[in-house]
Amino acid sequence: MVAPITLRVITPEKIVVDATAGIVRLPALDGSMGVLARHAPMATALGTGVLSFTPVDADGSREGEEQVLFVSGGFAEVRENTVRVVTESSERATDIDLERAQAAEERARQIITERIPDLDLQRAQAALARAVLRLRIARRRGRGRSR
Ligand code: ATP
Repeated sequence: MVAPITLRVITPEKIVVDATAGIVRLPALDGSMGVLARHAPMATALGTGVLSFTPVDADGSREGEEQVLFVSGGFAEVRENTVRVVTESSERATDIDLERAQAAEERARQIITERIPDLDLQRAQAALARAVLRLRIARRRGRGRSR
């Protein structure tokens, strides 16, 4: 049993997670950081990375496998025993569409290698990073690993 903390992950489009967690791991810009119950108030910017948490019930008893999510950008705020994540895009590992991510990877690689004029290289590199990470998360899921 662990002391529980509330986790909410939202994007402009949807609520991705509203859950009670044991530990939450966030992809802060300067590296992965773990947040437990009663963490001091803080706010941090997020990169493109993996957010994971252990689901627990209100008493802090473990309720299933560690959950893994893709997140990209935005920020996390910890306050009043709640982690609020507001991010540009996010999906649970189980919701990642592998074919879509493969297509996004190909598109981005083509833009980068062909150096198509008038196309934004930085934007293509960011799209490539998102696609590669989505593929990594989805393939781990496919092998039955939770992280
Ligand atoms: P794409 O070019 O395929 O749209 P992207 O990296 O530009 O990829 P985002 O801007 O990060 O996409 O996200 C836009 C929306 O599409 C978000 O709601 C995000 O959750 C969803 N999304 C993007 N790629 C995938 C995917 N492979 N599987 C499931 N949802 C995805």
